[in-house]
Amino acid sequence: MIPVSGGKKQATELNVSVLFSQGYHHFAGFAISDDLLDTYVGPCGGCRQFLCEFNPVLPIYLVRPDKAVEVTSLAKLLPECSPKTMDLAFHNGV
Ligand SMILES: [Zn+2]
Repeated sequence: MIPVSGGKKQATELNVSVLFSQGYHHFAGFAISDDLLDTYVGPCGGCRQFLCEFNPVLPIYLVRPDKAVEVTSLAKLLPECSPKTMDLAFHNGV
C-alpha cells in the first residue's frame, strides 16, 4: 500500500490522480484514515463518485488511529454507482 495524504476536500480523488500520473495504474484497494478516534471516515461524495468511475469494485479500507479497520465497498457507500448499471434514460429523455 502506498501512503498518500491530502487532508482536504477531494483528497482521495487527488491522491489517486497523482499516483496514476506517476505510473501506478493497478490498485488493490483504497485505504482512508482520519484522526477521529471513535469513528471510521470514508471518502466524501465527490470522491465516491470519482472512485466509482475509476474502479467500482475495489475494496475500501477505513482505518482508525488505533489501527482498527473496517472493509467496505462502493456498493455500500454509493449504491448503484456504476455507470454501467445506471439507467440513464431519465437524464437524456430516452
Ligand atoms: Zn473527497
